Amino acid sequence: MLLSLQGATVRFGGRAVLDAVDLEVAEHEIVCVLGPSGSGKSTLLRAVAGLQPLDAGRVLLDGRDQAGVPAHRRGLGLMFQDHQLFPQRDVGGNVAFGLRMQGEPRDRREERVRELLDLVGLPGAGRRAVAALSGGEQQRVALARALAPRPRLLMLDEPLGQLDRSLRERLVVELRELFGRLGTTVLAVTHDQGEAFALADRVVVMRDGRIAQAGTPLQVWQRPADAFVARFLGFEN
Ligand code: ADP
Ligand code: MG
Repeated sequence: MLLSLQGATVRFGGRAVLDAVDLEVAEHEIVCVLGPSGSGKSTLLRAVAGLQPLDAGRVLLDGRDQAGVPAHRRGLGLMFQDHQLFPQRDVGGNVAFGLRMQGEPRDRREERVRELLDLVGLPGAGRRAVAALSGGEQQRVALARALAPRPRLLMLDEPLGQLDRSLRERLVVELRELFGRLGTTVLAVTHDQGEAFALADRVVVMRDGRIAQAGTPLQVWQRPADAFVARFLGFEN
């Protein structure tokens, strides 16, 4: 299993924000954690990334316990909620950021940046200023930046959160197609059920730091596990 969480627990002020979560992600799988605001989704990603220490439980990557492994040595790609591009760098500089950290030589970096911008549908945009891009274009640049170092697991926090609905619906289909083509393993979190159902091979519904249900989009949609899941999906009881 590429990623395993075993009893992962994070407490803030005595409250378990992540409450003994067991979760596995297989190689090439796209898993979406779906839950309302405050259910612990971002904390889950931060714990996997090594940015949030666990109070109990374990995070394993390829079967190896990650306790004590710093974030930059976990081989993960991260795209945060507010994608935080570097405004003073151009598009290419943003995408190349992780490659420079890895010590890739300049010519290889430039080639990889071109390849990635083609991939996310922004060919030739390397010299453009970040501030001149639309929200959707910035989202694509953030994605290219996260993919650049070829992470073994790509983690996305509300990846399309800033975008309007029609763009979101279009991009989510593109993303699924792209990840399938690249064989990318993805753990995404979102409060938007449309996004989760369109993107995921497997949906994990979270409530108050616990997993309320996990299954294929069809399974969750057809058989919500309880009243909470049903209500969250918009069904009248
Ligand atoms: P989500 O991403 O699902 O909206 P979060 O993981 O951001 O949820 O937060 C879950 C809960 O933990 C929220 O109630 C939030 O206020 C709380 N929380 C998150 N980070 C901290 C922190 N550093 N200190 C205290 N409480 C926090
Ligand atoms: Mg969040």
